[in-house]
Amino acid sequence: MAFEGLADRLQGTLQKIRGKGKVSEADVKEMMREVRLALLEADVNFKVVKEFIKRVKERAVGQEVLQSLTPGQQVIKVVHEELKDLMGGEQSKIAVANRPPTVIMMVGLQGAGKTTTTGKLANHLRKKHNRKPLLVAADIYRPAAIQQLETIGKQLSMPVFSLGDQVSPVEIAKQAIQKAKEEHNDYVIIDTAGRLHVDEALMNELEEVKEAVKPDEIFLVVDAMTGQDAVNVAESFNNALGVSGVVLTKLDGDTRGGAALSIRSVTDTPIKFAGMGEKLDALEAFHPERMASRILGMGDVLTLIEKAQSTVDEEKAKELEKKMRTMSFTFDDFLDQLDQVRSMGPLDELLDMIPGMNKAKGMKNINVDDKQIGKVEAIIRSMTKDEKLHPEVINASRRKRIALGSGTTVQDVNRLLKQFEEMKKMMKQMTNMQKGKKKGKGFN
Ligand code: GDP
Repeated sequence: MAFEGLADRLQGTLQKIRGKGKVSEADVKEMMREVRLALLEADVNFKVVKEFIKRVKERAVGQEVLQSLTPGQQVIKVVHEELKDLMGGEQSKIAVANRPPTVIMMVGLQGAGKTTTTGKLANHLRKKHNRKPLLVAADIYRPAAIQQLETIGKQLSMPVFSLGDQVSPVEIAKQAIQKAKEEHNDYVIIDTAGRLHVDEALMNELEEVKEAVKPDEIFLVVDAMTGQDAVNVAESFNNALGVSGVVLTKLDGDTRGGAALSIRSVTDTPIKFAGMGEKLDALEAFHPERMASRILGMGDVLTLIEKAQSTVDEEKAKELEKKMRTMSFTFDDFLDQLDQVRSMGPLDELLDMIPGMNKAKGMKNINVDDKQIGKVEAIIRSMTKDEKLHPEVINASRRKRIALGSGTTVQDVNRLLKQFEEMKKMMKQMTNMQKGKKKGKGFN
């Protein structure tokens, strides 16, 4: 997970102070020394670290914190708030032009994930905001960049505007906007050229495009894995072009977090989105508060709920509810459920969003990994149709057969059957409670 080292160290340090009934100024100082080291090790810009520590210290040794009933908790609250502010406070939104189309220019170095993010952003705008974007291939230098965008357009069933690699990016961008007006596309997302390093020719060209199309947003795509380099790149682009937002890619990798925590302070540009994988739906709005909570091990329930809402099929959910009510929930439905959970992303990542779970994971006794789910799936798939519908027919010899067929053990099969039984029992209880309520007895 991203931020793992930083999260571990900060949580370790804060743990020591959390339950303390009395906290002295010396305690705070000692703690801040450790926080400072943790941030520096996570490759956070040293000036940013210095400012951060100063602010937390000032607030944490204040009367209302140290003399409160829960000083340890209060100090953690201060750290949380300051971390949130460091990453930009409130979450920022995407502009909407008064007269469509809204024009977004994507800029960044080669390999940062610009072309992929262009597709992800278009997908996001359509899925979450019901928009109709036009993708524009204006990176005429990187071999295959145009083709890559066209492939992405096909995957998304979205139009891509391109004039090949012999027409200037300025001309491509201008004509694309004309086309968008004709076709009623309300967003135009321009994938511009990147270089391996920031150079004058690149900046000049981007300035020309900017001048020609007057974009409503200029999004800089930076690779979070490059740490402080990402911050320097952001500074150069911002000085030359005036960037309106940053998209931080590859936050699904094991980045230490330096870029995420420094970019806002150094460049005064908000991080608007985070790339969380190579797939076209792996883009999340960047919420500084939620990110601060994840880093401090407080979970991120809101993102988890949003993920569930965007992956769970509503029709299926209704059907499931009915099955639960009528007690006709079978192993096939169970498989369906597993598939839905899986499509939300790697379990590891999901667990990090549940408060306290990242610590529980470390304890090893909670063994909820993808392999475990794979096992359960294999067992269910080795059952016959009749067994799935009526698990009570699964006797000893059938259990042996299922274990063999699924490459598991009889104990594994037993465990799953028992869990399923318990789940059904629980559903029955819940259903009875519901019925009780309807009759007007039951609980308040
Ligand atoms: P460009 O040169 O800036 O247009 O970069 P590309 O869009 O071609 O991306 C470069 C590589 O990074 C590709 O292999 C992408 O699949 C990968 N990539 C982009 N964004 C992400 C992300 O958020 N996470 C991960 N893991 N990979 C990404």
